[in-house]
Amino acid sequence: MGTLGLEKKYEDQVLKCSRCGFCRVICPTFEAKDFLESYGARGRMMQLKAVDEGKIQPDQSFVDRIFTCTLCSACEQKCPSKVDYVKTMEAARAGLVKLGFAPPDFAEFSEMTLEKGNVLGQDNARRMRWAAKLENIKVNEPAEVLFFVGCNIMRPRVRPMATATAKALQAANVDFAVMGEDEWCCGLVFINTGHLDVAREFAKHNIELIEKINPQRIITICPGCAQAIRHYKHLTDGWKPGIPITHAVEYIAELLDQGKFTFTKEFEGGSKIAYHDPCELGRQMGVFDAPRKVLNAIPGLEWVELENNKALSHCCGGGSGLQGIDNELAREVAHFRLKEVQDAGADVIVTSCPTCRGNFLDTIKQNSLSIKVMDIHEVLAQALE
Ligand code: SF4
Ligand code: SF4
Repeated sequence: MGTLGLEKKYEDQVLKCSRCGFCRVICPTFEAKDFLESYGARGRMMQLKAVDEGKIQPDQSFVDRIFTCTLCSACEQKCPSKVDYVKTMEAARAGLVKLGFAPPDFAEFSEMTLEKGNVLGQDNARRMRWAAKLENIKVNEPAEVLFFVGCNIMRPRVRPMATATAKALQAANVDFAVMGEDEWCCGLVFINTGHLDVAREFAKHNIELIEKINPQRIITICPGCAQAIRHYKHLTDGWKPGIPITHAVEYIAELLDQGKFTFTKEFEGGSKIAYHDPCELGRQMGVFDAPRKVLNAIPGLEWVELENNKALSHCCGGGSGLQGIDNELAREVAHFRLKEVQDAGADVIVTSCPTCRGNFLDTIKQNSLSIKVMDIHEVLAQALE
């Protein structure tokens, strides 16, 4: 075992990298850092190998390179050696955290999130504000479907996504429940950044509530939450929910297929929409068709594909907590994607992830771009009203 304490399966991945550099053509941080080798997948792998073998000592510059990867997994699409890059990077981060290296302020951030139950450090009671005008929302009662809402719901701009999802579920007569103010952070940012002990605390708490609700399915509006809950089995003693854990848009597409509800209202959101595949929902969870099916089902909605779409989608820059680690880099990456929207002649970008939405919004504001951002749930909300 080397300096970073990597398990053999990850050491094997490091050795598998042949340094061919095919990953460099698609890496958003490599591009945003003016093609600086150490900010691409190949460069990160080479540094990782040298540190793990004890040839160089880990320092803050190495920590910066390892933690500024968005874990978008685009490099894996181009890798002829099939390196399991993202999992290896997460393992390296966990090793660094154990050695006492982490991005600045992370200890404080972990403490605050554990104390408050959400990454925004707000009163957890605010989690239910999105449901203020809705009736008959079950909270922590047994139900067929658990709607895990996620920390982003603390932001007023995200509330319409949850409201729209609940309205669609109600329109389809789905028996669902939420965890309300007892819901805690899914823990993804701590899984991504190697703070596994912190993530485990969130997993344990949320699993207790999930078991109380005893759902047949869990849905989320953030792909990251679905990914984190799927990961709970690795954080606990093999918790096996044995039920699908999916993004809400997949479930809504299924309900549409089953004829449980239809969209009746004409869409008025914008003149030309472009759909952005979030890395976690698309490349990592393999969900490409469901959001397209939902968009196609909305009357009057016209949309286009971006040049880099589906498995080759360009990252939004917000993945893996990059906004908290290097916000300038996060926005630079988002800016590349927004240029693609302009090149496609679109003026609205629709995504299925609150993190993408937030990073795009901030980047648009900073660069005074004439592009509107919407989450797919907001789009369907307009078609349901
Ligand atoms: S996961 Fe994404 S950001 Fe990280 S090295 Fe691969 S392509 Fe670059
Ligand atoms: S494409 Fe794969 S094998 Fe080639 S340098 Fe990148 S990570 Fe290594």
